[in-house]
Amino acid sequence: MLGPPGAGKGTQAVRLAERFHCADIATGDIFRANVAEGTELGVLAQEYMDRGDLVPDEVVIAMVMDRLAEPDCQAGFVLDGFPRTVAQAEALDRRLAQLDTPLHAALNFEITEEELLRRLVGRAAQLHRSDDAEQTIRHRLEVFAIKTRPLIDYYRHRGLLAMVDGVGRVDRVTVRVLDGLRAARPQLQRGRDAAPALVI
Ligand code: AMP
Repeated sequence: MLGPPGAGKGTQAVRLAERFHCADIATGDIFRANVAEGTELGVLAQEYMDRGDLVPDEVVIAMVMDRLAEPDCQAGFVLDGFPRTVAQAEALDRRLAQLDTPLHAALNFEITEEELLRRLVGRAAQLHRSDDAEQTIRHRLEVFAIKTRPLIDYYRHRGLLAMVDGVGRVDRVTVRVLDGLRAARPQLQRGRDAAPALVI
């Protein structure tokens, strides 16, 4: 799934990983865990996260490639929050080609800016996420528009894109996600002839 912050990718990623018994790789969660533990990676990532900027490509790519080498990824994986730039998508393509693991689908969450701001401001109050302050939220949405939105065409050109209306109850969105997957790659419904790889 591709989509701006607050579009509901994380919630749906967890559900998909459970349904397909595969790994859920959420790069934002990995960074937040590193920040909490005070690791070198966490210290580096925090300044970018606090500003609402993307962590540099080489850092994210190295981190995700290490994660993909872990045993639980052999059953397939859902990527939540990666790739966020064309350079990241290209690195992912190269790795998937090496692993001989096809990318099954890229799901793009569509949501209005008004609904996004409503959700993100609510999340800031609930979770005290330092990157959910209103000014930072606006910056993250700009960063999404400039750096990440080009990935919609990137995956559309590869015939992997499915659009998902992200507004509404979580269960209803899950139904749309599964419909989107069915439309993108019908073989996912027929059985797991290959480990699924999903971009969220
Ligand atoms: P998220 O929880 O996915 O919204 O990510 C929170 C923050 O982590 C982002 O605003 C970025 O600072 C950083 N981050 C997460 N994933 C990536 C990525 N693929 N590329 C660069 N930065 C990332």
